Amino acid sequence: MPYHPRSRSVLAALPLALVLASCGGGADGDTGTGTGATSGGAGAEPLSVVASFYPLQYLTQQVAGEHAEVDVLTSPGVDPHEVELSPRQIAELGSADLVVVLAGLQPAVDEAVAQQSPQHTLDIADAADLLALGESTVEHDEHVDAGADDGHDHGAEDPHFWLDPLRYADAADAVAARLAEVDPENADAYLANAEALVAELTTLDGEFQRGLATCETRDVVTTHEAFGYLGHRYDLNVIGITGISPESEPSPARLAEVTAQVRDLGVGTIFTEPLLPPGIAETVAQETGASVLTLDPVEGINDASAGADYLGVMRANLAALRDGLVCS
Ligand SMILES: [Zn+2]
Repeated sequence: MPYHPRSRSVLAALPLALVLASCGGGADGDTGTGTGATSGGAGAEPLSVVASFYPLQYLTQQVAGEHAEVDVLTSPGVDPHEVELSPRQIAELGSADLVVVLAGLQPAVDEAVAQQSPQHTLDIADAADLLALGESTVEHDEHVDAGADDGHDHGAEDPHFWLDPLRYADAADAVAARLAEVDPENADAYLANAEALVAELTTLDGEFQRGLATCETRDVVTTHEAFGYLGHRYDLNVIGITGISPESEPSPARLAEVTAQVRDLGVGTIFTEPLLPPGIAETVAQETGASVLTLDPVEGINDASAGADYLGVMRANLAALRDGLVCS
């Protein structure tokens, strides 16, 4: 598990930090609390922030830097759509300085936030300029089977905004603004960190623009409908085999429909994704003679991921797209 050792050790250290802080008993702006914190006057312990799943964790870590410890509710390798929270995690929401969520993506998180009413919450959906489902992807018929299970509002919006680097950059600015409100003393650092991340995301956007400018095909057939924003940004025709939530099994009718479409369009590559069994993509590929490549919706990073972080995985996605769509 090379990727989250930092947050683990931080968690382990947290009770000690809290004990020290409560012994110190100083007020917020106190100088020199003696807890061995950073130089530079602030001396305050880092904020405790909880992010609901990987893209928000990465964003918050990058923007907060050393000024916050960011814990994540969705373990690497777990499908964020289906996450369930432990009592400890639910309690953590109540004690965190800030909770960063994407309302509508994770029913269990939405429920726990409503229950705990954290001190400060940022719903990134407000900043992400979410598109209605029909706007972000071309193919949306009855296979987007809204919320039959638990009656919560799956929303008419596509949650996967982070797969558009520029929307993700807007979200970075929103995180910085919220952190600056919660912790005004470090506002300058948050804004500077966000600016650096936005610059990286703008570079990434340029790579996608150039890399996908000239391709033999622009039809992207994927397993779950995560890539609508990517398609919207880079003018790709995204066809999702299953619905917006990866668990929904496609009906035989839907499979037949996609298979026919793949034949009609002459699609040569079906994209599958790491957290899902490859069966669905392989079924369509075998029927049509297409090959299978991996496109990662960056809903979690683990050992099997094609990159160490959001930027790395997105670059691997670009390489896969260039390969599968035969881009020059
Ligand atoms: Zn998803």
